[in-house]
Amino acid sequence: MYAGMTKADNAASNRVVDLRSDTVTQPTPAMREAMARAEVGDDVFGEDPTIRALEEKVADLLGKEAGLYVTSGTQSNLLGVLSHCQRGEEYLIGDSYHVYRSEALGTSVLGGVASFPLKTDAGGGIDPGAVKAAIKPDDPHCPITKLLCLENTVSGRVQPQERIETLTATAHANGLSVHLDGARLMNAAVKQGTAPAALVASVDTVSLCLSKGLGAPVGSVLTGPKDFIARARRLRKMLGGGMRQAGVIAAAGLHALDHHVDRLAEDHANARRLAEGLAAFPRLAVDVDAVDTNMLFITPHPDDADPLRAHLAKHGVVIAGQRPKIRIVTHLDVTESDVDRVIAAVGAFYGGR
Ligand SMILES: *Cc1c(COP(=O)(O)O)cnc(C)c1O
Repeated sequence: MYAGMTKADNAASNRVVDLRSDTVTQPTPAMREAMARAEVGDDVFGEDPTIRALEEKVADLLGKEAGLYVTSGTQSNLLGVLSHCQRGEEYLIGDSYHVYRSEALGTSVLGGVASFPLKTDAGGGIDPGAVKAAIKPDDPHCPITKLLCLENTVSGRVQPQERIETLTATAHANGLSVHLDGARLMNAAVKQGTAPAALVASVDTVSLCLSKGLGAPVGSVLTGPKDFIARARRLRKMLGGGMRQAGVIAAAGLHALDHHVDRLAEDHANARRLAEGLAAFPRLAVDVDAVDTNMLFITPHPDDADPLRAHLAKHGVVIAGQRPKIRIVTHLDVTESDVDRVIAAVGAFYGGR
């Protein structure tokens, strides 16, 4: 259901297909059962067994020493950057990355840490030469360059592993640490058939979202060395993010990791099926080759954008209002037959013009 829909609309056989993001998923009945059964305790005292199990599970999955359960990907990245950097220091980051563009620059506001953006290419990558060139000399005019922030996937694009390793080697050779925003890292792992720990072996710290494609209602886990996680835990308390019997929500994350990882391949197949179907309409630009995982981007003719969105809404299909490129995301609550319904609805729109 979304704003403007009634309960009756939602219950109709014409179920709403919401393509705005993979954050819109509803917890499954099995996930809700796991949440109801969760053993809990006061996590600020370190006594919630479900949260401890989740932190350990994600740390193991990513091959890191320790994990910290946090409220969101934004909080995870904020704690990550602030546990690496002090006031007056800076991090290098791709100019299209989430930490730079979509987290209200909390690292500057709350931490006095500057971000130094590097140009991101069409595939979401940054150039190792640009990293090297952006590292400041030891000079009182300059901030201290401390950290490189990477992202995988970037707008659904899997980052080539060789590139990640060149970037991390460049950073480490110059005394920088590396943080990876792996909000959708599991999509990258499933797509490549690679263990997630292998994808992040060369980076120091990783943030993983449970509330995106994995389908949990809330939560992310920050992972890294023990002393780093201890600093992040103190900062989380400072930000008001210490939670008590939050095992009830952590249980959803554990359930997601047990049951919703392999099925990400279905989201990827559905995104591709949708891109191929939509590419048939001449007034709609779709880059099918750019579909690596669960995202595609469509660019309607400017005159069509608003009417198309309104037409789809009437057919129970919700898309975002971005212009000119619209991001379409597949997820746990989008089936293959939903995809075919969306293609048919778009076909009905273009058939009438
Ligand atoms: C969604 C997202 C985040 C932030 O997660 P929230 O839980 O929405 O705060 C961070 N990075 C990337 C790449 C994301 O897609």
